[in-house]
Amino acid sequence: MNISVIGAGYVGLVTAAGLAELGHDVVCIDRDQVTVSAINNKTPLIHENGLSNILSRLVPKRLIATTDYKVITDTDLILICVGTPSKPDGSINLRYIKNAAIGLGSVLSSKKGYHVVATRSTIIPNTTKEVIIPIIERYAGNKVGFAYNPEFLQEGKAVQAFFNPQRLIIGELNKRAGNVLLKAFKDIPAAIFRTDLTTAEMIKYASNAFLATKISFINEIANICQRAGVDVYDVVKGLSFDYRIGGEFLNAGIGFGGSCLPKDVAALIYASMNHFGYRPELLRTVLDINEMQPSKMIDIAESKLGSLRNKTIAVLGLAFKPNTDDIRNAPAIGIIKLLLAKGAVVRAYDPQALDNAKRVFPQRVDFCSSAAEAIADSDCVLIATEWDEFKNISLYHGKMVIDGRRALEPSKAKSICDYQGVSW
Ligand code: NAD
Repeated sequence: MNISVIGAGYVGLVTAAGLAELGHDVVCIDRDQVTVSAINNKTPLIHENGLSNILSRLVPKRLIATTDYKVITDTDLILICVGTPSKPDGSINLRYIKNAAIGLGSVLSSKKGYHVVATRSTIIPNTTKEVIIPIIERYAGNKVGFAYNPEFLQEGKAVQAFFNPQRLIIGELNKRAGNVLLKAFKDIPAAIFRTDLTTAEMIKYASNAFLATKISFINEIANICQRAGVDVYDVVKGLSFDYRIGGEFLNAGIGFGGSCLPKDVAALIYASMNHFGYRPELLRTVLDINEMQPSKMIDIAESKLGSLRNKTIAVLGLAFKPNTDDIRNAPAIGIIKLLLAKGAVVRAYDPQALDNAKRVFPQRVDFCSSAAEAIADSDCVLIATEWDEFKNISLYHGKMVIDGRRALEPSKAKSICDYQGVSW
């Protein structure tokens, strides 16, 4: 098939690369010329394992990028993968979705024959029906089919997850539209659930709300465990034997970050209260607990060091989780802001996210080229992301270490350093 993908960020580029690997001819359309040139030069701006390898083999044979929407006229299926960030009040910002719909609607107006537009961006229930379809039909009439295909990728393993998703959710305006999407993904082994557009949109939010709830739940339990003198990680081991609970997404620590869980839970709360007339108390608490967790690292540091003014604090890990360079809503970024506000001298290191972090802190943070360099001469080390290289215990001899991610095994760590976990 000929497929166009609008928005070549984490979701769009991984989707485009995956579809090209499946044998389709794919064109990425991004409004950002730098992103487009990077793809065409086979040097993507984002880090995902396996992505560069696909680009190096398939660009320009089956995958190219452009800023020009006109290429859409030569494709059969459009996948919208633009960002849907939060506004300051937590509601979803549909600016990019609307711009993409206008851009592709105006090109589709001159295209003859049937065409399917499927959205993979996360959008609150009813957005396809109430925003995307009216905009595109205003330009292109009713020759367009619509589908919603939520993306469940996990950054850090996105390419691998593309080829082995646990399920494909196809929200479809009608079977004809859904069939085109299914044809594109026909070689992907996954359970398939076909449903209407709005249900598919809600499935994505319910998934992320549930995952966020699991993390805040276990952090609540961890805070109780700590006071009761119990190790929450042993409690999770015990829980995990129960198939109704499972053991995934129950890592106590400094909470969830990233470009999805915080913004999606906030958008669902906002939509629920302002569009659907329901106040979701549980989800509000999920966010409240999550906002509290990172500052526990600072509280522990102050309890050990007193004032942090002029103390040198090493922060290991800037990405919101290992194996990605994504720092959006990363707990480490909030922690560094708090440290700077308290007058601490911050030395930071991350294997992949340094460039992104330097844009957030162009001056006041001392970025290091290794964990050992960041740790040297520090008064205290904060582990904010559990990259494998931070699990090397020999880095921490004689140091004060506050572990936000259970990167280290507490009993071993305590034998060589002054170790404290955030809630264990
Ligand atoms: P991103 O910010 O990495 O990428 C978005 C891209 O869209 C950017 O390159 C931007 O230049 C481009 N863009 C914006 N407006 C455009 C327009 N009108 N025309 C062409 N290009 C345009 O975002 P992302 O992380 O890939 O997320 C995209 C969507 O997928 C969001 O809705 C997000 O919630 C959802 N999602 C993300 C993840 C994830 O892990 N990142 C997982 C599942 C779902």
